[in-house]
Formats: sequence, C-alpha cells, structure tokens
Amino acid sequence: MFDDIGMLAREATEWRRHLHENPELQFVETDTAAYVADKLRSFGLEPETGLGGTGVVAVIEGNGLAGKSIGLRCELDALPIEEQTNVSYSSRRSGVMHACGHDGHMAMLLGAAKKLAADREFPGRIVLIFQPAEEFGGGGEKMIADGLFDRFDCDEVYGIHNMPGIESGKVAGVSGAVMAAARAWDLKIEGKGAHAGWPHTGIDSIAVAMDFVSACNAIVARETDPIAAVVISTTQIHAGNNYNVIPQSVHVGGTIRTLSDAAMADVIARMQRVARGVAITKGCEVTFDVQSGYPVTVNHGSQLAGALAAVQSAFGNEAVETECDPKMGTEDFSYMLNEKPGAYLFLGSGDVAPLHNPSYDFPDGIIERGIGVWMTVAKARTAA
Ligand SMILES: [Zn+2]
Ligand SMILES: [Zn+2]
Repeated sequence: MFDDIGMLAREATEWRRHLHENPELQFVETDTAAYVADKLRSFGLEPETGLGGTGVVAVIEGNGLAGKSIGLRCELDALPIEEQTNVSYSSRRSGVMHACGHDGHMAMLLGAAKKLAADREFPGRIVLIFQPAEEFGGGGEKMIADGLFDRFDCDEVYGIHNMPGIESGKVAGVSGAVMAAARAWDLKIEGKGAHAGWPHTGIDSIAVAMDFVSACNAIVARETDPIAAVVISTTQIHAGNNYNVIPQSVHVGGTIRTLSDAAMADVIARMQRVARGVAITKGCEVTFDVQSGYPVTVNHGSQLAGALAAVQSAFGNEAVETECDPKMGTEDFSYMLNEKPGAYLFLGSGDVAPLHNPSYDFPDGIIERGIGVWMTVAKARTAA
C-alpha cells in the first residue's frame, strides 16, 4: 500500500513549499483554494469550491462496495506573522506566513488524495475537506452552516495536526478533551478621572482593574477544581497617558481556556460576579463582555481507538505515542466533532520551533508519514 509513497512525498514537498511561499490570511485564501482545487482536478476529482467562504470539498468514491463515508479535514489559512526562517521558499507576502503547518497539512492530504483517487482500494467513500479560517475565524463552523454535512454526508470525521515536542512522525491521540475551549473577554471600567495629587476626588479605575485581575487569578486558585484545567489570562490593560492624571477609564482584556464547556460556563459566571463586585466595592461602572469562541475539541472513544489501532498495525506499535496530554490551544475542528463522531490526531513534528513562532517551518520529513497515516485512517474507517 505504501510502495511508492516516497516519490509521492517528494512531489507533495514541492506543493508544500509552493503553499509556504504563498500564504493567505483567513477567508481570503483564494489562491490557496484554487491551487488545492487544481490539484484535486488533476487527480480526476471534481472539487466544489466556496463552502463557508473559500472552503474546498472533493469526494473520492471507493471500489463500489458498501462502506462508511469518512471526512478528512485540513486547513487553508496562514497567520499574520512576519516570517524569520530564512528558508529559500520563505513567504513572499509581507507579514503573512504559514506558522502553524497548514501548508504541510494540505500537502499531506493532497498526497493521500492522489494515491487514494488512483487506487480506490477502499469501500464507501472519502470526503476531503479543506477549510478556511481555522486560526480565528471559525471557518469549520461556517462550512457546517453552509451545508457541509448536508451536501457531503460523513459518518465520521478526522483531523491531523502536526505537533512540535512530540517525536517526529509519531501519531499521538488523547481520549476525550484534546484541545481547549477559548473565550476572549473584555472589562471596561468607568471610574472618575482625577488629579493624581487628589486621588480622593476621583474613582481610581486602575485600582479597580488590579482588584479584578487579582480576583480572577483567585478564581483559578481557590474556586475551581485543581484537577480541571482552567486558565484565565489577562493579556491587555489599556489606560492612562500621563504621570499626574488618574485615568477616567480602563480597558482590560484576556482569554479563558478550559477543557470542558461546563467549566467554561462556570468560570464566566464567576468572572461576571467579580466584575459586579469590584464595581459595587469601588462605586464605579463596569461592563464585562465575553466573545464567542471555539468549544472544546472532544475525541470520540471508539473512532480514536480505531484510528490509532490502524496506525499501529500499519506502522508498528512504536509509531503511536500513548502518553499525550491535552493542549490548551484551540481548534475549530471542535465544531465538526460536535456534529460527527471522529478524532483529532497529533503528528509529531519533533524538535522544531513552536507553532505560531516566526521561525517555525513545517518539517518536510514528516510528509511521507502524514500521507501514510491519512491513507491508513481512511481505509480502516471506511471499512469499519
Ligand atoms: Zn494555529
Ligand atoms: Zn493549526
């Protein structure tokens, strides 16, 4: 099954480097989507474009025998980061780069698609899903809203993301919650501006902000189960522009991460209570808002076990990393796993720069294994 994957991986490496040179931000991945669709057409497939904005979907019909319909998903979008890798195929677009490895993910899925479309040695069918705007825009959710699963029925869905720090080429699976839920929050404090020498004539909005941040840190330390992973990070405070003026208003912002949607709802309620509390204590006005955000990415037990068992039987037990913790990053594949059973796997990218770092470059050495893993999961799950 993997005889000529080496040559295919070399071809896919060229695709990866082309995509790396030409990154596009979320929802404007038009050149990327066109490139992907052209490749799919060259494999004899008939891609549909424009789902959820710039999403691309193509179906590979199997050998005609009854089997499942299996969705395989990867991402089109790059990040607003100025590249610092100095590789010969560095981004040609200033301030935009593939720093999350989505270029490599596309190359892996296209490579698998080429081979699967040529052989068709599987029952059922495979639905290739190239989604826009994974990073911030919820492109996966938008594809679902645009009828992804109505138009392309999937019994199960799978995603693969490269992961620095996991041994190169190893596949890791986490049962249950694998990636966190995230919600951005904003606190606007309206105090009363005053001369810094007469603080008693105003209401010190900066002191209110400090109380709020301290109380939020105490929510994590004292009010949530230590076993439950909860993060409240304050990432912005905007106030003041002088030494002798107590500012009238402060804007504080940050993010909440949890590994369960129930914990997220609980933390938001506690932060609302703290916001009301500091307002009453200090006698000022506050507004606390939480933006919508990605839900928890939850792997389904039997699909995860089935995918990992298939990888082990194809590549050996040592090809699978079983000691893997969930990550507090987010993933909008969560929306697809909320609709369909399936799993989100990590593919180790070894000792490379972290994801979203300007020096990160997807390691081409794992493309061959990535193609093989996609083919293995596709063939095992269509026949499951
Ligand atoms: Zn990312
Ligand atoms: Zn990513």
